[in-house]
Amino acid sequence: MRKQVIAGNWKMNKTHTEAEDFIQTAKNEVPSSDQVESVVCAPFPFLQKLVEETKGTSLEIGAQNMHFEESGAFTGEVSPVMLNELGVKYVVLGHSERREIFKETDEEVNKKVHAAFKHDLTPIVCVGESLAQREANQTMDHVENQVKQAFEGLTDEQASKVIVAYEPIWAIGTGRTATSEQANEVCTHIRRVLIDFYGSEVADEVRIQYGGSVKPANVDELLSQSDIDGALVGGASLEADSFLKLVEAGK
Ligand code: 13P
Repeated sequence: MRKQVIAGNWKMNKTHTEAEDFIQTAKNEVPSSDQVESVVCAPFPFLQKLVEETKGTSLEIGAQNMHFEESGAFTGEVSPVMLNELGVKYVVLGHSERREIFKETDEEVNKKVHAAFKHDLTPIVCVGESLAQREANQTMDHVENQVKQAFEGLTDEQASKVIVAYEPIWAIGTGRTATSEQANEVCTHIRRVLIDFYGSEVADEVRIQYGGSVKPANVDELLSQSDIDGALVGGASLEADSFLKLVEAGK
């Protein structure tokens, strides 16, 4: 049985005080980590404080991006070494906003996945199609291609630890959720691609999240699907009450 992983992606939101308030409310209320993995992926400036404040609790802290190099002349970037040193446990990689706005490529995402494993970070790798791709029936091919490139060169052990987040771009921040069947269909396809590459023993361990307008009202239905093992949540993860409802659903 795969343990569900519910991750909030705060994106570029919250002040330091708001981040503090959230964590103080949520950190002792999340279910135990044996039942569900609860993660908050916060902006870089908050990470150190949030990691300190959640020590000894079941709430884990993740970053939303990083560079793949360990150090060097990369003005404005943050390295995997720095995240690991802070005690960050997860990192979101290849989010569609990074791919679209910051022009991240599949090759860079793959380098970041390798860098994450080298520095003991669990990668949450985002894949997903645009509305135009869905309408042109390219969803499965596109997502398959993204998954193959992201996993390129990983060992079986590493592959089994990747968290894939299937996030259809047209469902992000739009209030337009994929139906649970639509979401599961793609997640099942992703698992099939992984079975082809790594065999079913490894592929059955990979957690596949759905993301895109997940909220307390639709989370149960989505998580009940056979190949959906959690959620990556933007808007509905910003309030502690709502985030706590989502992690409860993952139990
Ligand atoms: P929303 O939950 O706001 O649609 O965002 C989804 C997302 O992009 C999470 O990474």
